[in-house]
Amino acid sequence: MTRESQDQSNTYDDEVLNLDPNFKYEITKQTGGEKLLRCLQCGTCAGICPVFEVDERYDPQKIIKMALNGMRKELLSSELIWMCSTCYACNEYCPQDVMVADLMCAIQNIATRYGYPAPALEDKIQILKYHARTLPLDNFDNKKRLKLKLPSIEEKPQDITQIIENTGIERILENALTPVTNEIAGAVSEDRR
Ligand code: SF4
Ligand code: SF4
Repeated sequence: MTRESQDQSNTYDDEVLNLDPNFKYEITKQTGGEKLLRCLQCGTCAGICPVFEVDERYDPQKIIKMALNGMRKELLSSELIWMCSTCYACNEYCPQDVMVADLMCAIQNIATRYGYPAPALEDKIQILKYHARTLPLDNFDNKKRLKLKLPSIEEKPQDITQIIENTGIERILENALTPVTNEIAGAVSEDRR
């Protein structure tokens, strides 16, 4: 066996060892993921998806295939699962009523639970906390409103700040990131053995 084919064989073995046959059942137990096993891989969801149209890295059919094949870690740690715009077009067109948009939310929720939250979540929470909205207002917005004879809007984040502090979401997020660190540390020490 050549060095190259040996490397390919090792990569294949690693991929097979990393598969989790129970992952698909875990998803079906999560709200929104119940209909995963109905998927026939027809590709209609990818064909209708506006995100896939502009960026082919986000392919809902492929994501579902990865879920069905048990590619748990690869899928949960992928930033691609957060690219769904929740437009619900796939829910309308899927011939198997898989409810793909809801399925994506289910996968995102599992990812968050296992320490892979949305990449920009921390930033969004900080903006929400200090501006009471996910896009901060500036004078430019209020000038536009004035031209339209709309009242200006003032940022009053106190209530939202209090709610965010009371929910402890920042602490939850901090803890959610811990398993990833542990997992990586575990993987590194395994490699060193
Ligand atoms: S449209 Fe429905 S059945 Fe077809 S690949 Fe997408 S989820 Fe599966
Ligand atoms: S809900 Fe998500 S997966 Fe479905 S079509 Fe819209 S962007 Fe694509």
